[in-house]
Amino acid sequence: MTLSIDTDLITIDKIRLFPEQSIDTDMLRLDKIHSQISGNKWFKLRYYLEMAVQTKKTGLVTLGGPWSNHLLAVAAAAKISGLQSIGIIRGEEPAHHSDTLRELGKLGMNLQFISRTAYKDRQLLLERLEQEYPGFLVVDEGGRGEPGIKGAADILQFVPALEQYTHILCAVGTGTMLSGLGLASLPHQQLIGISSLKGEEHTAPGILHKFPSLKGRIQVLNNFHFGGYGRHTPALLYFMNRFFEATHVPTDFVYTGKLCYAWMDLCANRYFAADSRILLIHSGGLQGNRSISPDKLVF
Ligand SMILES: *Cc1c(COP(=O)(O)O)cnc(C)c1O
Repeated sequence: MTLSIDTDLITIDKIRLFPEQSIDTDMLRLDKIHSQISGNKWFKLRYYLEMAVQTKKTGLVTLGGPWSNHLLAVAAAAKISGLQSIGIIRGEEPAHHSDTLRELGKLGMNLQFISRTAYKDRQLLLERLEQEYPGFLVVDEGGRGEPGIKGAADILQFVPALEQYTHILCAVGTGTMLSGLGLASLPHQQLIGISSLKGEEHTAPGILHKFPSLKGRIQVLNNFHFGGYGRHTPALLYFMNRFFEATHVPTDFVYTGKLCYAWMDLCANRYFAADSRILLIHSGGLQGNRSISPDKLVF
């Protein structure tokens, strides 16, 4: 069975936030391709799904938090591909399941909750899953790994005039998407990743170590996390609402809201030379906004 992802829905939109904005900015809209297999997750999962089918696996087993975009994408993509899915959820089972958890259940994902401590030792956990589920392909958190990077590199195939851009900006969780974009980018382009995490876990040096060819043109900014992963502040939500009113583009508070805020902040601080052309990657993830009260966002 083929996946019903509609890449025809990918558009490149002009982004104009303020009238006096001098920096030409476009946004690659990956958020519209599918409500559950959203944005970069489809790209990062493609080659894992292919592997699972080719090696005749029963399904995929993977891990994530209770609002995880990745788990939702895996559950939906597995179902459409005729594969089973098992989701290892970080933390004890809550009395009330989040909207995302309920959706995972409906998609037929087998949910298993583990303590945050057990989740933390990911290497051990992954090894355990390999042993426990030999018929399943184990996919690391967020689809990180070579197949994920390879899939993320395909994203730039949807940018027809790629060479016109001087800078490509994207959100960073595991850094898988940034690595893929880096590999597919052109030698004159700068890659800027905006980290959603507090701490130095996924900084550019790690990526450079793997891909020395990107030296001098890739960096991760660690000062736009708004308190850390999954955290938000009134200033961030205020910005996301104003951004939506000005551009009609919805963003998510975990990744793309922080990305767009960082872009605005860098523009305001004259970070980019006047003749720069920016490509922002809208990597999807809008479903995660369900975790904050609906009256906080205007879209
Ligand atoms: C998962 C996700 C990311 C992070 O991608 P990585 O490859 O893990 O860095 C960014 N944006 C959105 C919307 C996501 O869902």
